[in-house]
Amino acid sequence: MSGLLAGKTALVMGVANRWSIAWAIAQAFAREGARLIFTFQGERQERDVRELAGTLGSPLVLPCDVARDEHLASLAEVIREQAGGLDALAHSIAFANREDLSGAFVETSRAGFALALDVSAYSLAAVTRHLLPVLRPGASLVTLTYIGSTRVMPGYNVMGVAKAALEASVRYLASDLGPRGIRVNAISAGPIKTASARAVQGFSRMLEVMEQRAPLRRNTDPAEVADAAVFLCSALARGITGEVLFVDGGYHVTGF
Ligand code: NAD
Repeated sequence: MSGLLAGKTALVMGVANRWSIAWAIAQAFAREGARLIFTFQGERQERDVRELAGTLGSPLVLPCDVARDEHLASLAEVIREQAGGLDALAHSIAFANREDLSGAFVETSRAGFALALDVSAYSLAAVTRHLLPVLRPGASLVTLTYIGSTRVMPGYNVMGVAKAALEASVRYLASDLGPRGIRVNAISAGPIKTASARAVQGFSRMLEVMEQRAPLRRNTDPAEVADAAVFLCSALARGITGEVLFVDGGYHVTGF
């Protein structure tokens, strides 16, 4: 594979470290010839993200806490000034308080619910709205979701509710942006050991179940998710929008 994204500029949001799914996506985008722009959430992530971006020769690394509208506004402005426009976006961002990722969903506080939904679901609409003026016709937006949106996964709790909202947002955004030639899709990845995943109580059990029951009898490799993101952001997927594409070794088709 080479050159599927040649000449395109892609924004990658959600790299925290080298285990982040967003980092796998960035590497695949770079391999396919995209010019990359990165964001980092805050000071804690900045050094790692700058270092990783440097290895791909990407100097444009911008701060962006998606819960802050002023960050989103200045992100769009800097992209307009320094890159001219965007052809692809990887939104690989989610957050919930640790106490809301264990025990019973019924215990979720109002504040915990609002935070998880704000960062993990609303942020896709907010980012898209701010970036709209710099999105070129033909642009493709991809976000990351999980099967906990439609099925109960122990410990996933409020994040499952947030993913349901995220997937619905993908459909509404696809409808809004389709007339401009902009596509919006989600990838539903199988469980992958990352910093965020480790916050979910019982996450190791999810990995075990996946290996035993997924048709491919193995866990999901972040590189497989990244290749699906390349596909969705390339012209090969020009007829696909509003879709949730599973990259989970087929686990979602199993009924046991
Ligand atoms: P990760 O911890 O590496 O990435 C999560 C990212 O979200 C981090 O970079 C973090 O800085 C960012 N983030 C959190 N709050 C933010 C905020 N307010 N502003 C800006 N950025 C913020 O973990 P990951 O597993 O790579 O997660 C990426 C995406 O993939 C998430 O949406 C996650 O739900 C989804 N996903 C993960 C798995 C899995 O098993 N790891 C499976 C399916 C879907």
